[in-house]
Parts: sequence; structure tokens; C-alpha cells
Amino acid sequence: MSYLSNILFAILLLISVGFFARNIKKLIRNIKLGKDVDRSDNSSLRWKNMINIALGQSKMVRRPISGILHTIVYIGFIIINIEVLEIIIDGLLGTHRIFSFAGGIYDFLIGAFEILAFLVLVSVIIFWIRRVILKIPRFWNKEMTAWPKNDALNILYFEMVLMSLFLLMNAADYSLQQLQVEAYVQAGSFPISSYIANWLPQNEVILFYIERISWWAHITGILIFLNYLYYSKHLHILLAFPNTYFANLNQQGKLNNLESVTSEVKLMLDPNVDPYATVESDNETVPVKFGAEDATDLSWVQLMNAYTCTECGRCSSVCPANLTGKELSPRAIMMKTRDRIEEIGDNIDKNGQFENDGKTLFDTISAEEIWACTTCNACVTECPINIDPLSIIMDMRRFLVMEKSAAPQELNMMMSNIENNGAPWQYSQMDRLNWKDE
Ligand code: SF4
Ligand code: SF4
Repeated sequence: MSYLSNILFAILLLISVGFFARNIKKLIRNIKLGKDVDRSDNSSLRWKNMINIALGQSKMVRRPISGILHTIVYIGFIIINIEVLEIIIDGLLGTHRIFSFAGGIYDFLIGAFEILAFLVLVSVIIFWIRRVILKIPRFWNKEMTAWPKNDALNILYFEMVLMSLFLLMNAADYSLQQLQVEAYVQAGSFPISSYIANWLPQNEVILFYIERISWWAHITGILIFLNYLYYSKHLHILLAFPNTYFANLNQQGKLNNLESVTSEVKLMLDPNVDPYATVESDNETVPVKFGAEDATDLSWVQLMNAYTCTECGRCSSVCPANLTGKELSPRAIMMKTRDRIEEIGDNIDKNGQFENDGKTLFDTISAEEIWACTTCNACVTECPINIDPLSIIMDMRRFLVMEKSAAPQELNMMMSNIENNGAPWQYSQMDRLNWKDE
């Protein structure tokens, strides 16, 4: 009977880790549905970016208030979760505060965890006030309704509850230690929860139940949170690291060329080329499709970008198209891309392989959005985790132009002028200097 709680805990842990592993497998499978792209170059710069941007939060703090609060939550959450290791070992072995043998170091760590938990709690409450009371505009754009809005709030509530349970658990433990209850070893320092303990009834049995219920609720909450990540924008907790590592290192504004088009142009300009050999080589290099019509036409990095997006809206808040009332929101581009690749993944799960559902990315991302982009790169610069919404926009434009000949009228005119006159204007090359005779 005394092993019942250990067995229950082991089952809970096993189920949670099993679900988490299943979702991670699905996530990796979905990301790999994207086209291959080589990001194995310049690993030292990639490591540097990852350490600065993902670990060091360097781009987050460009906006100091949210940046500092986010850094507290991030550090707090990571460090406090070191204690989860102790909770798991205690749960499996039926021990209590198994690391307490570390003496002074243990006391210091528990004290530090408590201060961090308190700071996280305060930061999360400020986040909630900014979102719900102050209604900061980027949290209330039209794409932030239904699930995205609830998701953001769910996470805040989750964090509030988890931190409160942690402090309540420690407060009851502290009181039980003061009462010299045998099972509760004298260990830890409690700079915050010792105050909370003053509000608890000093009754051994009640304190025992408060401590046990908080302990179970805390660890169960963490395991639920772990499994919630896959469905949430909080997947960035994990993906921010590979996302910043594999980010585009090209200079901003440098658009990638389509290899097949580049080689065709080179061949056309080369007088020594055998035209028949050209046809052969073209057959090898011409892609099945130019640009991106659906999520699977994007690269795996772009799909990882979509899963990593925190939906913070910093990109949309600096996007000139969005600011001037156009349909385009770079955040919405990322969210819709994620929704679509999820839909494709579910389709594969259901049918064993992808069955054509007659849908594409263009069902949710309109041509109007795509053409509203000025390619200014502000969204890419502003994104705290180096996501590149512009690259998706450009690939979708390429599809419209090269597969559908569906560029706006003004662009079509300009492109045919370039083709015919070697310039964007409507005059023949012979007439270019006529203006000087006017
Ligand atoms: S590159 Fe396009 S989407 Fe990004 S900020 Fe500029 S206009 Fe907006
Ligand atoms: S793309 Fe980057 S800046 Fe834009 S919402 Fe996502 S995480 Fe935030």
C-alpha cells in the first residue's frame, strides 16, 4: 500500500512522457515535410546567434519592459524546473527532498528558487495586465481571436498556478519542519513561503494535506504543461534554439535566386552552349513547381519558423503594410502556415499518406496580403527569434508570378517592359534619350 503513490506517480510520468514523445515525433515529421535547404555552413556564427538570441534573449530586450519581464519568466522557469528533477526522484522513490544532503548549497538553491518563483509570478501578473487591462494593440489584432487569444491567456494562468503551488507547497513544508514532523527533513530556506506559512493553520494533518495536494498538483501541472506545448505558441521554449541556429545568415534584403532560373539565364547568355545539352540539363534541374503554393512547397526551416512563432506581434507592429491598414500581417502569415502544415500532418495521420484535400496556403493567405508586402525586412529584423515571414511571402509571390502569371497589372506591365525594352518604362531603347530634346 505504501508503494501506491510511487506506482501512481510512475504511471503519470510514463503517460506524460509518452504523449510528449509522440507529439515531438509528429512535430519533427511535419517539419520534415518541407523542402530540403542546406544550413550547415558557418557553424560558429550559428552557435553565436543561438547563444545570443535564444539563450541570451538579446533581441527580446530591445523592448525593455516586455524584454526584462520575459527574461525573468524565462530564467525563472528554467531554473525552478531544476527542482522538478528532485520532485520526480522523490515521486519515484517515495523520498522527501532527496537532495537535502547538499546542506548549505541546497538551502541556497531552494531560497533562490523561491525568489525567482515570486518574480515570475509578479512578471506574469504584469503580462496579464498588459494583455487584458491595458489591451496593448499588438495583442488584439484580428488574428488574435479564438484559440490564439485563449492560448496566450492559458499560459499566463498556468504559470500563475504553478508558481503559487510551488510557494504553497514550500510554505506547508516549512510549517511542518517547524512543527518537527518526522517525515519532513529540516532542509531548505524559505524567504518567501515562510511569510505565506503565517496564513496557514498550524495543524499537522491539514498542513500535511496542503503540502501533498500542492506537491501533486504542481508536478501534474508541469506534466500537463509539457504536453500542452505542442498545441501552443509556447513551443518556442524548445524551438527557439534550433530556429535561431538555422536562421538565414544572408545579408538582409538579399533574396535567394531560384537555381533553375539562374542556370537557365546563364545558359542563354553563354554563346558556347550546345542548346540540346541545355534541354537535357534543364530537365534535371527544373523544379516540379516554382515558388510555394502549399506549406509543403516551403523549406523545413520555414516550417520550423512557423512552429516557433510566439505570436508576439512585434513583426506586425513594425510592418509598414500593417500599420497603414493593409490586409498583411506577418504574424498572421506565420500562424496560417503553421495551421496549414498541421492540417497536412493530420491528413497524413488519418489516411496513412497525404490525400489531396483540395486546399492550399492560398485558401487562408490572400494574394492581397502577399502583394501588400514592401519587402522592407522590418518584420525579420524585429522578430526576437529570427523568424523570416518575408521568405514565405516571396515564395508565394513566386508561385503566383511563375506558375499562375497572376502578378498585379502594374508588375506585369513592368516585367514585359523589362523583357521587351530592357527597362521598366514603356519606351523602346531607341527612344530613351528623347526627353533631352523636349
Ligand atoms: S517585409 Fe513585408 S511583411 Fe515584413 S515588415 Fe516589411 S512589408 Fe511587412
Ligand atoms: S514572427 Fe517573430 S515577431 Fe512575428 S509574431 Fe512570430 S515570433 Fe513574434
